[in-house]
Amino acid sequence: MKLLKEKVMAEGIVLGEQVLKVDSFLNHQMDPMLMKEVGSEFVRRFAGEGITKVLTIESSGIAPAIMTALELGVPMIFARKNKSLTLKEDIYVESVYSFTKRETNEITVSKKFLNADDRVLIIDDFLANGEAAFGLARIVEQVGASVVGIGIVIEKSFQPGSKLLKEAGYRVDSLVRIASLENGTVTFVEGE
Ligand code: 5GP
Repeated sequence: MKLLKEKVMAEGIVLGEQVLKVDSFLNHQMDPMLMKEVGSEFVRRFAGEGITKVLTIESSGIAPAIMTALELGVPMIFARKNKSLTLKEDIYVESVYSFTKRETNEITVSKKFLNADDRVLIIDDFLANGEAAFGLARIVEQVGASVVGIGIVIEKSFQPGSKLLKEAGYRVDSLVRIASLENGTVTFVEGE
């Protein structure tokens, strides 16, 4: 996605060789016009899949996910990271190791909002090792619903998440793919 690639080049800040900071348009300040375009692009890529719900994880997945759900005309659900007061019987729970916080969190989704006949599109802001996406997919599978695919705004292709998710049989569609963050520079996968 050309517009997103240009935004990453203009505003992305490389932190070490592993982390890209994009707090001017996605992770702190959010660019609603760009998020609208991101949503439209996911809708175009997953057209004809009969999606009934969009699922993401708080907080940075919410903006791209809500824009996608708005255009699809379906609900968006975000998995919560905080321990909620809800009874355990009422929620689906999975453990997810956080790449950025280097700790394991429980993520939860209320049983009220997912059904076995749902066709779920998973959306997230970044893909690194695939922990968040696998956790969300496990929740969908606990319900007995289908994962239509995984839509990622920024994939770091030098980390194993994309390969692992594809090997597990999931369709992964990333709007931009980064080959390397070496030498403080963002290098995109060729042909992006
Ligand atoms: P994974 O679960 O695939 O290992 O990592 C993806 C999650 O970690 C995303 O939900 C995202 O919040 C965070 N993340 C991973 N890599 C980066 C990064 O380079 N920059 C930012 N801002 N977040 C990242």
